[in-house]
Amino acid sequence: LLLSIGGVALLGAGVGGLFLADRALLPARQAWLKQQRFIADASHELRTPLTLLRADADVLLRGRKHLDEEDTALLDDIIGETTHMTRLAANLLTLARLDSSNVHHEQEVIDLTELATRVVHRVQSLAEQQQITVQITSSQPWQVLGDPVLLEQAILGLLDNAIKYNHAGGQVNVRTMKQNGQVILEIQDTGRGIAAEHLPHLGERFYRVDKARARSVGGTGLGLSIAQESALAHGGQLHIQSASGQGTTVRLTLPVVQGHH
Ligand code: ADP
Repeated sequence: LLLSIGGVALLGAGVGGLFLADRALLPARQAWLKQQRFIADASHELRTPLTLLRADADVLLRGRKHLDEEDTALLDDIIGETTHMTRLAANLLTLARLDSSNVHHEQEVIDLTELATRVVHRVQSLAEQQQITVQITSSQPWQVLGDPVLLEQAILGLLDNAIKYNHAGGQVNVRTMKQNGQVILEIQDTGRGIAAEHLPHLGERFYRVDKARARSVGGTGLGLSIAQESALAHGGQLHIQSASGQGTTVRLTLPVVQGHH
């Protein structure tokens, strides 16, 4: 089953274009932008208290030998939840930035192979902890134009999923290629796969296939939304090919830079 999440239609219309076409939309657009700014500010404001909370819990845990088992378990919970909330705040901030089309995204020529290789290195120890092998098989550089921070975050989320929803002894294969004038990053995993009925919902914010288990694997339910919207913001697309029990292949497609390759 092949699914193309979302589509280019929404971004293609462009908020600016709609505004010119219909002045009546101005108040709605302003209200919407205000809401995006509020979400961005709120996520940003949450980061400092969360960092302080985490630091306090770390200090208390360092005196672990003076604590009984129950208190230690409670502190571990606090640290776990703080880490989760920090991730949530960071993801919401990224989505709010992606949503407000008037925010200027950095545009740089990026070698997608190099970027992917760097992210593969970043997840290596996480993968080893879960006995999963992650490898990148491409070395040829492919240039794309984009925001390196956004793209790195998108790829990190996809690789995190390929590890998180995999089995011990499983594999993740990453490769980059060029096809029909587009550069493609492909992440293939040997994990549990995704049943057909869930595929159309994966781009929805906070959508998770297995809500009960979702808590134990961590994650925020925003990783695929970020990857999808980053792809769209770069004039690209995100495709997910999967079936239950058969692993998942995610393809991030980006336009190639003119004059490169
Ligand atoms: P989460 O933080 O829950 O991982 P995502 O937005 O990244 O959120 O993914 C949404 C849901 O899609 C996940 O909860 C999971 O059920 C499913 N999913 C995403 N990637 C994979 C994958 N590689 N293999 C299996 N299921 C996946």
